[in-house]
Amino acid sequence: MSDTYKEKKYRNTISQKMLAIVIVPTIMLAAVTAMLGYNFTLEALSGELKNELRTAAVMTEININTLYPGDYELVGDEGLSLLKGGEDITTCYELVDIVGDETGLELSLIYSDTRILTTIRDKDGGRLVGTGIAKQVKDDLASSEESLFYKKTLIGRENYYSYYYPLINSDGQKLCTLEICSPYSPLAALAWRPIMVIVGLIVLVLIVLVVLVYIQTKTTGTATAKLMEFTKQAAGGNDAAQLDPAVLEREDELGAIGNSVLEMHRSLREMMDKDALTKLLNRRSANRMLDMVRNHYREGGKPYSVAIGDIDFFKKVNDTYGHDAGDLVLLTVSNILQKHLKSLGFVARWGGEEFLMVFDRMEIKEAEAKLWEILEEIRSAEIIYEGTVIKVTMSFGVVSAPDLTQDEIIKMADDNLYYAKERGRNRVVSVIPV
Ligand code: GH3
Ligand code: MG
Ligand code: MG
Repeated sequence: MSDTYKEKKYRNTISQKMLAIVIVPTIMLAAVTAMLGYNFTLEALSGELKNELRTAAVMTEININTLYPGDYELVGDEGLSLLKGGEDITTCYELVDIVGDETGLELSLIYSDTRILTTIRDKDGGRLVGTGIAKQVKDDLASSEESLFYKKTLIGRENYYSYYYPLINSDGQKLCTLEICSPYSPLAALAWRPIMVIVGLIVLVLIVLVVLVYIQTKTTGTATAKLMEFTKQAAGGNDAAQLDPAVLEREDELGAIGNSVLEMHRSLREMMDKDALTKLLNRRSANRMLDMVRNHYREGGKPYSVAIGDIDFFKKVNDTYGHDAGDLVLLTVSNILQKHLKSLGFVARWGGEEFLMVFDRMEIKEAEAKLWEILEEIRSAEIIYEGTVIKVTMSFGVVSAPDLTQDEIIKMADDNLYYAKERGRNRVVSVIPV
């Protein structure tokens, strides 16, 4: 259970990392795009707006000059009046309303730093007449003869883009200024619009990426889990461990790992199943193979024969010529046995210099004859070790009792072998005379 939990934990970690790799840069891209895009767009829009405000200012100046030619002057002691060409324009709101209505902009005529005429109204609908302009604007106007443009000036309770256009009297004196304003928030909202579209698209791409990454990590996670399960079973010695072909068919690193692991498992199994010196099947796999032959017989196959062979006086070979010479003899005998048994059944190294032979679908007479043939070849083999010819003989006990248990069959073959040893070795025994 803890293993399953671990697998799950690993898988999540990979997918979390993959998701982070996708999500973090995409969100950063969206944020930077939004920030830069918004600023660029707002900058471009405010540039356009500035021109619009300037045009409105020029139009208003022309209007006022047409209606009231002459200079501006302020008269009176207490109730001050603004005159233009001698006419009192203190309450001539149409001077600002005409262009205001036409353009949708807010217009004010400022004397010194106070609004005399204005289209700007408070929330109750009253005009913001008599209100002052921002200190910064006032200072800038005092020191400049040029028009001024501000991106954010607070008038009443609202922020405006505002353009200040000086109105010069004939003597060059600047008594009045035209203030043309456009509220800040609608332009900001306008600048956001294309950015929201782009950010929306990025978010859409992000969603697609997340889905793709999720699918990808899920399939690789499943493949990884299958690989882990297979290696765990293989490491636990389970010969029947199977690796899902879907993993092997993958054309990525996981598929390559799967194929390598499978190859490694095959090599390990071969190492486990075979004897290192002679490369014959070992006792463990011989038992399994004999089981298969017996099952085959029980399912209606032909009878089989089993033999055990033992090299005669093998200890003497070791004692006389050395252990390496003994190994060479073992190898030579193994090759001869393998050559004969290959097409008839199988041969395995049963013990030190003992071999088990199974003649599949073969009656005892035929097996016995075959063994005599093999013995003849072993007898006549000249095994040359360091220039010396070594010759050996072998004894065999053979039996065919297909209905008995494996142990009983082996025991009978062993008994026959011992009888062969007793009777002088170098022979094949298939039956012990009563
Ligand atoms: P017998 O005819 O009665 O079978 O006599 P034997 O000498 O063949 O039988 P014994 O059981 O006395 O000796 C078997 C020897 O085989 C003893 C052991 O050292 C040797 N032997 C077992 N495995 C190997 C091996 O892998 N290599 C070598 N060189 N010798 C081995
Ligand atoms: Mg022996
Ligand atoms: Mg022996």
